[in-house]
Amino acid sequence: MEIACNVTRQAPRIVELVNLATARLRGGAPAEPLAGEELVTAFAAGLGDDTRAALRAGPDAGAGLAALATELREALLAERPADQAARINAMIRRYGAQPYLVEDVGQPFHLHFHGSGGTPVEALGGEFATALALIVDGYGPARFGQCEAQQCEAVYIDLTRNGSRRYCGAACTARAKSAAYRTRRRG
Ligand SMILES: [Zn+2]
Repeated sequence: MEIACNVTRQAPRIVELVNLATARLRGGAPAEPLAGEELVTAFAAGLGDDTRAALRAGPDAGAGLAALATELREALLAERPADQAARINAMIRRYGAQPYLVEDVGQPFHLHFHGSGGTPVEALGGEFATALALIVDGYGPARFGQCEAQQCEAVYIDLTRNGSRRYCGAACTARAKSAAYRTRRRG
């Protein structure tokens, strides 16, 4: 199935927000989950100019982003598909996600799902919750996970063809491989 390109664009943003705000271990080392202004600044760095400005101007964006990150993490790592679906559905309702067509500069019309609550964080919440729903619909419920490398709590979203991803990124994949190699040599 062809997933809307907007959804594949949202996946790394969802992962980035969850990891910035909730991971206490990343890539083999302790990490300080970000909150408040620090979270807004770090997360906004990866967004377009308009979204970044709106987020910075919005009320209490740091607290809103932290709450959204926690909800997203719980949905991503829910053990049972029914629980995962219920969490995603609850977010879609809470953020009032609504489909509408947008024409960005240089792009054809494509579908967005901004939340309708009014604040930039609520808009993002609707977009992110719908992206997760479309990924479950298109790829099944098992495309989200927590990095399996030692000392890493980062999450990932796996949009690869065969769904074989187990690590958050290249660094943890390399760490896990060398750990497995050392274990084999000892054994
Ligand atoms: Zn990792």
